[in-house]
Amino acid sequence: MKKIRVAFFDTKPYDRKSFDAANEKFGFELTYFEARLNPASARMAAGYDVVCAFVNDDIGAKTIKVLAEEKVQMIAMRCAGYNNVDLAAAYGKLVVVRVPGYSPYAVAEYALAMYMTLNRSLHRAYNRVRENNFSINGLIGSDLRGKTVGIIGTGKIGMVFAEVLQGYGVRILAYDMYPNKAMAEKLHIEYVPLDVLYRESDVISLHCPLTRENVHMINAEAIGEMKQGVYIINTSRGKLIDTAALIEGLKSGKVGGACLDVYEEEGDYFFEDRSDAPIIDDVLARLLTFPNVLVTSHQAFFTREAVWNIANVTLENIRDYFEKDELPNGICEMCDGSKGCSSKPCGK
Ligand code: NAD
Repeated sequence: MKKIRVAFFDTKPYDRKSFDAANEKFGFELTYFEARLNPASARMAAGYDVVCAFVNDDIGAKTIKVLAEEKVQMIAMRCAGYNNVDLAAAYGKLVVVRVPGYSPYAVAEYALAMYMTLNRSLHRAYNRVRENNFSINGLIGSDLRGKTVGIIGTGKIGMVFAEVLQGYGVRILAYDMYPNKAMAEKLHIEYVPLDVLYRESDVISLHCPLTRENVHMINAEAIGEMKQGVYIINTSRGKLIDTAALIEGLKSGKVGGACLDVYEEEGDYFFEDRSDAPIIDDVLARLLTFPNVLVTSHQAFFTREAVWNIANVTLENIRDYFEKDELPNGICEMCDGSKGCSSKPCGK
């Protein structure tokens, strides 16, 4: 049987390490390109059966057209989110798969770690003591016990976040269009309308996917409804927050802190070493000036366990399709991605 050829885009040394190790039991032919996937680089996929892409690749209609012309059959996302894939353009041309739940613990634990770091000023304390400055002036935080935490999106990650919070003595509010009543009872979560969550939460954590409907859901109006001094945690997708409105909220003190592992224009910066060049993005530059903003480079997923699962499930997705004509982790324009697709509606 012909070896399946997979072209990886936007790869880093850690991708090669985990995929080469996982591929020992699959035996596919893997090629790693450093370039991001976009309409221009898509031609590099000529002769490959599968393209493997990541969160900041541009997999819009133009890229998909080129991939289809080059007879690529599958786009294998090595991540959970798929907001950067034009599913309508892919429908009937290529199948799309993803890794839906490689480690909700990685992201949920990281969200809380970010909050704890910012609330207790660990990021500032670390730098101070390294310069022999042992003053704690200005580093005061708040107890989390007794506070109200609002979770937007109670899927895999949101629920683990609620589970991780169990030891902290907090009231947990949640909003999701599809409430999980059994887990809510077990974890003492109160489902409330979004405006109530905004009004009553001291800390709000975003765990919903980015969709056409919720772009900039955290905008000036939403922030206006929130508590004075609210902390906002975003480990989901940058475009859920209107960053300009967030900056206004931070300047006025309405927002007491922002933990951002994602940023709406992260594509030009995140995952890259840009330490020898100025930041051209003035919004990102402004964000980085606030002492009460913690920005990290989309690393919430980055644990040994998660990276191992991503590599294994991605290669399983490829095997399932080419050897069994199955798409348990398929996504297409006609499905919501929660149960996978049969190969028929996704088409070939
Ligand atoms: P999931 O599909 O298990 O859960 C998402 C939940 O959000 C679902 O219950 C859904 O009903 C709900 N939802 C959808 N739209 C909503 C809206 N507008 N308001 C409220 N709830 C809404 O997904 P998951 O595995 O928990 O992942 C959530 C998101 O986390 C992903 O879509 C991805 O964007 C992000 N993520 C980030 C990282 C990272 O490294 N920072 C890693 C993995 C996932």
